[in-house]
Amino acid sequence: MVSKSIQFNKPYLTGKEQTYIAEVLEQGFLQSGGPFTKMCEQWFERRFGFSKAVLTTSCTDALEMISLLLEIEPGDEIILPSYTFVSTASAFEMRGAKLIFADSCDDHPNMDVEAVRPLITDRTKAIVVMHYTGVACNIKAFRDLCDANDIFLVEDAAQAIDAKFEDQYLGGIGHFSAFSFHETKNIQCGEGGLLVVNDERFHARVEFMVEKGTDRAKFLRGEVPKYGWVDIGSSYQPSELVAAFLLAQLEELEQIQSTRIVIWERYYNGLRFLEDAGHIELPVLPEFASNNGHLFYFMCSSIEVRQELTKFLRSKSIAAAFHFLRLHQSEYFKNKHDGRELPNSLKFEECLLRLPFHNEITPEQQQEVIAAIGEFFS
Ligand SMILES: *Cc1c(COP(=O)(O)O)cnc(C)c1O
Repeated sequence: MVSKSIQFNKPYLTGKEQTYIAEVLEQGFLQSGGPFTKMCEQWFERRFGFSKAVLTTSCTDALEMISLLLEIEPGDEIILPSYTFVSTASAFEMRGAKLIFADSCDDHPNMDVEAVRPLITDRTKAIVVMHYTGVACNIKAFRDLCDANDIFLVEDAAQAIDAKFEDQYLGGIGHFSAFSFHETKNIQCGEGGLLVVNDERFHARVEFMVEKGTDRAKFLRGEVPKYGWVDIGSSYQPSELVAAFLLAQLEELEQIQSTRIVIWERYYNGLRFLEDAGHIELPVLPEFASNNGHLFYFMCSSIEVRQELTKFLRSKSIAAAFHFLRLHQSEYFKNKHDGRELPNSLKFEECLLRLPFHNEITPEQQQEVIAAIGEFFS
């Protein structure tokens, strides 16, 4: 019997998005900076203890804002993982930074702090980390390294909502961080993001920069009678329609997260027998990291096995996918790279496979996925 296909991702809707969007239409204030924007920003500040949260139109935008706030200039060096999404790098590349790519850990796609240590020079301006699948990198060690060398720490926390390093929320440990609400993330509004500024020295300036370099935020608070041009900046804030959508999702965070964690654990427990048999390696969760149920992956023994397995699953209408391509070997960057080999990033590029994962996947569908993978290896 051929079952219906099992989708890779499906953006989750809480049902309250339309209600809040209708309220925006009613209130007649559609541009950025209105009550829904403020409610979203305060929600993040209260819930995760971030000192300043600013809604942006994407995580990419938030990263570009960070690049602007850091006043990146040609020659400034940025150390970052090769195994990450393009935006982690392009936000700094576009301002002329020299990108120094570092390798992943041996047992995890996250960047290895020991691989980063020897790359620091007196031109290093910042280290940018990314928390893959919302699993914390060893951010405490990165923070210590940055503090000891007087450089900035930036967290690409795109996948890391509601995730922790020990008892600290991710996104609150670096000087800056960026979250994504792209429809593939746990909390989504189609396209959206959040800039977190934990370093208070930048609080005043960020308000100008997100508002095209004006003091409109002060004007909206009634602190100045009119607003004008005070700094450089761009248009980084979403409209109230987007903020309203997002608030509906944020209010259901707990339920969304617990659903996803159950799904994650069902895959993990269901696939254990294949790890025991030596066919696959299940994801590693370091002791210091929590699990936010962003996505589920495992490691195949080679690229050939992964390709065959992907094909086999596709023949059963199950969508499985590889993930990032190493940035230091990308079409755009490979000729700029200094030639260091980053073997772990290659392993994750070639052997990692992600399974269908969304809030509405059923236990039966997951069982079908697990059984198909078992059949492949039998
Ligand atoms: C999704 C993602 C981004 C980009 O997010 P947008 O909101 O689409 O700009 C950046 N970095 C990582 C690690 C991501 O997973």
